[in-house]
Amino acid sequence: MATIAPEASAWVAASGAPPIELDALSHDYGARQALRHLSFTVDAREIFGLLGPNGSGKTTLFRILSTLMLPSGGHARIAGFDVGASPQQVRARIGVVFQARSIDLKLTVAENLMHAGHLYGLSGKPLRRRIDEVLDRVLLRDRAKDFVETLSGGMQRRVELAKGLIHSPAVLLLDEPSTGLDPGARRDLWQYLRTLRDEDGVAVLVTTHLMEEAEHCDRLAILNAGELVALGTPGMLKSSIGGDIVALETRGPAEAQALRTRLRQRFGAEGTVLGSSVRVEHAQGHRFVTSAVEAFPGVIEGLSVQKPSLEDVFIQRTGHRFWQERGPEAEPDALTREQEAHEGFKEAL
Ligand code: ADP
Repeated sequence: MATIAPEASAWVAASGAPPIELDALSHDYGARQALRHLSFTVDAREIFGLLGPNGSGKTTLFRILSTLMLPSGGHARIAGFDVGASPQQVRARIGVVFQARSIDLKLTVAENLMHAGHLYGLSGKPLRRRIDEVLDRVLLRDRAKDFVETLSGGMQRRVELAKGLIHSPAVLLLDEPSTGLDPGARRDLWQYLRTLRDEDGVAVLVTTHLMEEAEHCDRLAILNAGELVALGTPGMLKSSIGGDIVALETRGPAEAQALRTRLRQRFGAEGTVLGSSVRVEHAQGHRFVTSAVEAFPGVIEGLSVQKPSLEDVFIQRTGHRFWQERGPEAEPDALTREQEAHEGFKEAL
C-alpha cells in the first residue's frame, strides 16, 4: 500500500487554485447519464452543499472527487490537481467521511487515528500531536483511550471526522453526514464543521438530500437527474422566487389541470400542477388566494400561502417535487455502493 506525504492546507491555499473546481464534468453508467456537464467551484472557508433527491448524482460526484472513479468527461480538480491525472496529489489534500462506518469498533479512538495517520505517512511525535489536535477539534480528547464501541453514535461520527482530518486536508468531503444522528448530535456536527471552516480555512463539501441540512450550507448546488439546476446561497435561491408560494388543493389531478388553465385565463397566473394541487408563485399571495377562491367557487378544497422554501426552488427549476412518488427507497443499493466506495478508498491509499 502506497503512503502519501501530508501537505499543510496553507500550502494548498497558496497555490491559488480553488479547493474544488468542476469543469463540464460528466459521467455515464453505460447508457445512463448520471452527471451532465457540471461546472462550479467551491471556495476555501466555505461549507458547500450538494443537494439532490436520490438518483440525482450526488454519490457519483462524491466518488469522482474522492478519486474512486474516473469521470467519463470533463474535469474535476482539487486545489488545481486533476482527480484523474493526479490522484495521489488529490488524496493528500482531501479528507473523506463516508456514510458507512470506517473506524474499527474494537480499537480505541487513538488507535484508530494512529492507523489512519500511518496511511498518510505520519508517525511518532508529529502524529501524536496531530491526534491530540484533531480530538480537541471534535471535543473527544478525554475519550482517546476509550474503545470506539463504547461511544455513542454521535461520538463515533466525530471520530470519523477526526480521522478524515488527520492529515490536515484543505478539502473535507462528507457524504450525508447527518444520517443516523439525533438532532443534538447533528447540531454539534454542524458546529464542528463551522469551526473547521472558520479556524482552519477548510473547504467543506457535504452531500445531502435533506432540505434542513442544506439550509446550514453557505452555498448550494442543487442537482436533479445529474444536472445542476440551481447554484447560490440558500437565501439567494429562495429570494429568487418572487413573493409567496400559493398551493390550491382540488379534488384530483384532472381538476387541478382544469384549475391551472382557468387561473391562466382569468389572472394570467402560471401554475404548476403537483398531484391534485396547483402551485402558483405570486407577489401578494393572500390577495391572489382571495381572488381565486371567489372566482372559482367550489373548486378549491384547501389552500396555503407560504414563504418560498428550498423545495420551492427545486420545484420551480424542475417542475416536480423533490421526492417523487417512488420515494427514498427507490435506490435500495445506495448504502451497499457506499460501503464499496469506502473499501475502495482504503485500497487506493
Ligand atoms: P444519488 O447519490 O444522488 O442518489 P447516484 O450518484 O447514486 O445518485 O446515482 C445517479 C444515477 O446513476 C442514478 O440513476 C443511479 O441509478 C445511477 N447509478 C449509480 N451507480 C450506478 C452503477 N454502479 N451502475 C449503474 N448505474 C448507477
